[in-house]
Amino acid sequence: MSKKTLIIGAGGVGNVVAFKCAMNADTFGNITLASRTVSKCDAIAKNIQEKVGVTIATASIDANSVPQLIEFLNTLKPDIVINVALPYQDLTIMDACSACGIDYLDTANYEHPDTAKFEYKEQWARDEQFKEANIMGLLGSGFDPGATNVFCAYAQKHYFDEIHTIDILDCNAGDHGYPFATNFNPEINLREVSAKGRYWENGEWIETEPMEIMQVWDYPEVGPKDSYLLYHEEMESLVKHIKGLKRIRFFMTFGQSYLTHMKCLENVGMLGIKEVEHKGMKIVPMEFLATLLPDPASLGPRTKGKTNIGIYAKGMKDGVEKTIYIYQVSDHEACYAEVMSQGVSYTTGVPAMIGAKLMLEGKWQGKGVFNMEQLDPDPFMEEMNKQGLPWKIIE
Ligand code: NDP
Repeated sequence: MSKKTLIIGAGGVGNVVAFKCAMNADTFGNITLASRTVSKCDAIAKNIQEKVGVTIATASIDANSVPQLIEFLNTLKPDIVINVALPYQDLTIMDACSACGIDYLDTANYEHPDTAKFEYKEQWARDEQFKEANIMGLLGSGFDPGATNVFCAYAQKHYFDEIHTIDILDCNAGDHGYPFATNFNPEINLREVSAKGRYWENGEWIETEPMEIMQVWDYPEVGPKDSYLLYHEEMESLVKHIKGLKRIRFFMTFGQSYLTHMKCLENVGMLGIKEVEHKGMKIVPMEFLATLLPDPASLGPRTKGKTNIGIYAKGMKDGVEKTIYIYQVSDHEACYAEVMSQGVSYTTGVPAMIGAKLMLEGKWQGKGVFNMEQLDPDPFMEEMNKQGLPWKIIE
């Protein structure tokens, strides 16, 4: 019997997931794209019809409301929910999925709107609830988290007896021509990069000031780039699941223009997430800034250049020290030509589709809540090569 797939969220990433599911309609069956603003779903559905020749349904939904979600899920009865709305909606969508007995997948871990801190605690706490409902929840199936976790699991399975250090390296060398814009949701992006940095060494988390540690890494097909140490959510699960790990860090590239704008916005209070009074109205500065900045979905046709995301791992194999680098390069213009989105949305949306595909095909199975590195990396790595994210390994 044909499957039913529900995608929630119609931003840059939702667009890619919807396109890619439609391009794999044999697996995803009847596809519905639902979001807060239904006109965005309709515009995506129209493009998919024209470019892929597949019809998808659209709907309006407020994913902050568990009762509304439950009613919707009980009517539609999808086999899986792919959550590519915002991290604020993770818990409500998870709770609705467990109430209705439907598998769940997301790409970013839960964040409370009032605290710029993301952690897996509350999603992991739903493990029992998912087991009782006899369903699977796959957390963080984007690129980072997502493909980077799978790269670590692949390295562990095929290349090492023990991995001692991992550096996750995220380079976006794309240029959209704006002095300042973010490649995915501005609020989520700015909260992440303006927070304190953190890495894990010898069993402890070490905190740094925002952007305090910079290293120049040389990225294949891109060249050397200033890369800043950030805290990133996949490290929280990887320290639990990678054998023998002594240190893990995450670096992301930023250009000078981005950093100068961000510092200035921070200095004047525009990155604040607490309400302020403005002419008798309450506004949150960060939300107002997000309104002013270009919609990430609109960057697609203007962005040129490449992304390169990967992991650099060192450890031991058969008593000998070993280093490997697994990475994936995407070209923004090629991504746009295929699915009308720039590379950052593409590299997030394709792994979301792949995770869901493996679940629907029964290749990734389980009851409870899982991070990506807990599952067999091989079918995911195979799909990446087939679905537009070919990767390379340097030993
Ligand atoms: P966008 O802001 O472009 O899109 C978010 C979508 O979610 C919008 O369509 C928005 O609706 C919808 N939405 C927001 N609130 C609700 C709600 N209450 N009910 C229903 N729909 C809602 O974000 P992106 O597409 O750039 O990012 C999507 C997700 O992907 C985010 O969680 C982000 O953190 C994650 N991500 C993960 C990455 C990874 O590698 N793991 C990398 C990049 C992003 P509306 O149009 O009405 O605002």
